[in-house]
Amino acid sequence: MADPAEARGCGECGMCCKLLSAPSLNKPPRKWCVHFRRRSGCDIYADRPAECRGFNCGWLLTPSLPDDWRPDRAGFLLHQDEGRIIVEVDPSTPQAWKKAPFEQTLRGWAAAGTEVVVLVADKGLRLGTPDQSVKARRT
Ligand code: SF4
Ligand code: SF4
Repeated sequence: MADPAEARGCGECGMCCKLLSAPSLNKPPRKWCVHFRRRSGCDIYADRPAECRGFNCGWLLTPSLPDDWRPDRAGFLLHQDEGRIIVEVDPSTPQAWKKAPFEQTLRGWAAAGTEVVVLVADKGLRLGTPDQSVKARRT
C-alpha cells in the first residue's frame, strides 16, 4: 500500500494487501493482511515492513491508466519485475483481466515488445502469439 499523500491515492483499494505476500509478517499471497482496514487502510502504516514500502503499484505510478484500472475495480494489480509487467489477478475474479479494455491493452503492450505475464493463483501466462504457460513467480 502506497503513501496516501501521493497525488493518486489508494482510496479503499488495498488489493496489494490481499494479493501480495509480506514474508516478514508471515503473510501469504492471496490472503488479506491482518493489518488492513477497509476504510482506513494499513493500521501499522508508519511501521509497515520493507516489502510493503517497496511495492511499486503500476496503477499509482501510471497516470495515463484510467480509474477503472484501480486494482480493486479492475480485479488485478500491475507491477514491474525486471522489465516484465506482472498482472496479478484476484483469484476471486480470475477472468477479470479479460474484460474490455484490459485484455486488449495488455496484449497491445506485449505486441509492442514488453513481456507481460498474467498470474492467476498458481498459473502464469506470458501473453504473445501464442500465449505461453510459465511458472508463477511472485513478489
Ligand atoms: S494495489 Fe495499488 S492502489 Fe491498491 S492499495 Fe495497493 S498500492 Fe494502493
Ligand atoms: S502491513 Fe499494511 S501495507 Fe503491508 S500488507 Fe499489511 S496492511 Fe498492507
